[in-house]
Amino acid sequence: MPVPTSYFVCKCKLQIGIPTDTLWQPFANRDHPPTGTPRVVIQCPKCKTLSNFWRPDYEVPEERNVENGWAFVTWLGCGLETCKSPVPVFAHKNAATTQEQDSAPSGATTSIPALYCRGIHPVAAELIRNLLEHLANEKTVHLR
Ligand SMILES: [Zn+2]
Ligand SMILES: [Zn+2]
Repeated sequence: MPVPTSYFVCKCKLQIGIPTDTLWQPFANRDHPPTGTPRVVIQCPKCKTLSNFWRPDYEVPEERNVENGWAFVTWLGCGLETCKSPVPVFAHKNAATTQEQDSAPSGATTSIPALYCRGIHPVAAELIRNLLEHLANEKTVHLR
């Protein structure tokens, strides 16, 4: 079934299409959902980079070819106690299958990307490291 889809262009030029409903799903049970498009963090299924996106690069009202392997992973807060604007993180379930030829030891050589919460506070490096570990572990489980 064709679904409204938001597209984000990664630094590696991959056009990442995520059903718009999936982007909104984590906000469904929150008291103050954002207006407009939610700010999100997305892990690119190709280059594995975690990136902030303030808005989609473009939207397709009825996309037919989108395969919905996208899932909300977790909320990422900046670490400030006063901050009420964590950003939702999304990753693709099939990202694991392309990871196999990657011979780098997991975690050890991963650089920490600069990420921001929805309040545009920088996220503490420790929290990003935890998130990267979490994503790497999910993949390990998925590969078995
Ligand atoms: Zn990428
Ligand atoms: Zn914050």
